[in-house]
Amino acid sequence: MAIKKSICIVGSGNWGSAIAKIVGRNVLSSPDLFEAKVNMYMYEENFEGRKLTEVVNEKHENVKYLPGIKLPENIVANPDLIASCKSADILIFVMPHQFVRGTCKTMQEHIKDSALAVSLIKGFDKGPDGKILMISKLIEDILNIDCAVMMGANLAPEVAEEQFCETTIGCKNKEQGELLRSVFETDYFRCAVCTDIATIEMCGALKNVVGIGAGIVDGMGLGHNTKAAVLRLGLMEMVKFGELFIEGSQEVTFFESCGVADLVATCHGGRNRLLGENVVKSDKTIKQLEKEILRGQSFQGPLVAQEINQVLKEKNMLEQFPLFTAIYKICQREMDPREFINCLRNHPEHI
Ligand code: NAD
Ligand code: 13P
Ligand code: CA
Repeated sequence: MAIKKSICIVGSGNWGSAIAKIVGRNVLSSPDLFEAKVNMYMYEENFEGRKLTEVVNEKHENVKYLPGIKLPENIVANPDLIASCKSADILIFVMPHQFVRGTCKTMQEHIKDSALAVSLIKGFDKGPDGKILMISKLIEDILNIDCAVMMGANLAPEVAEEQFCETTIGCKNKEQGELLRSVFETDYFRCAVCTDIATIEMCGALKNVVGIGAGIVDGMGLGHNTKAAVLRLGLMEMVKFGELFIEGSQEVTFFESCGVADLVATCHGGRNRLLGENVVKSDKTIKQLEKEILRGQSFQGPLVAQEINQVLKEKNMLEQFPLFTAIYKICQREMDPREFINCLRNHPEHI
């Protein structure tokens, strides 16, 4: 009999906790394949005078990041990163992207050589040379293991409530695809597998920027037509970004859940959309808004907007991406959000 695989979830925020519910149940229903206990690495913090890990393990609920949802009892929150991951065969990365580099550096030398990573993280890393690096590539480079990805139209609170949705898994081969499907798939969380890893990941990062634009439209009280135009122009910039920066990027990948579907979900119900709306209604900084609205959760869109702005600027390509550029400037508070639509009137798509 094959040796059972052990899983560690590296991260425990809103999405990390929602996916923990799925993974915890799935390992119990495949006892021949997986170890029952799933470690969930949790960045320790105080919650109402107690350690958050202690409260989560007592209540089987992430009272701070996903309140109201019971986690399976085989999910065990652990504040010790190395102890959580050292015997894992599958490492599920799910944390705001700005923390991945440091987290991987701590894990380096402590994980199994044969482990497989999968990133659920929507963002990019800016390497020391200032170039954009996919998060899966960053994980592969630091840990020297393969890293697959999984992203789609998956707003965490809806997944946690078991509402039907789809997702896209990107990995190198069929064997990894089958294994990851057995980790994640349920009757309400349907997985499609393909190999265009970089395009899946790029969609996940860039749609957060477009989501802010959709929120700006909402904040200005504009209607469905304008929002649809923002979605379409955002999609065209995403496709163009893929053509320019990803070798072998396939347009068909945009029709998977990670593409158009995630764009639609984020532009209607995501946290980045909420940010866009509030950017119009107040003149607070993004940091202030994040603190007040999300209380510990993270907006990824502003960081991604900044990361891609630097790259596009260096390559003299800013005019080809007016939507991404306007959203960057609005997030920096260098531009009045009411100017957003004016930036789109002469979009290259209209010429
Ligand atoms: P989140 O926005 O809830 O972020 C909070 C998490 O960050 C907490 O677990 C907190 O402990 C952790 N954290 C704070 N400081 C830290 C530090 N210094 N080091 C390590 N961790 C630290 O996180 P999330 O919603 O789970 O998002 C993780 C990733 O998943 C993001 O890339 C996001 O875009 C993506 N995603 C989110 C959703 C969603 O609906 N929430 C859905 C799909 C994908
Ligand atoms: P937000 O971070 O904007 O909430 O988007 C969540 C997401 O990625 C849904 O698929
Ligand atoms: Ca490798």
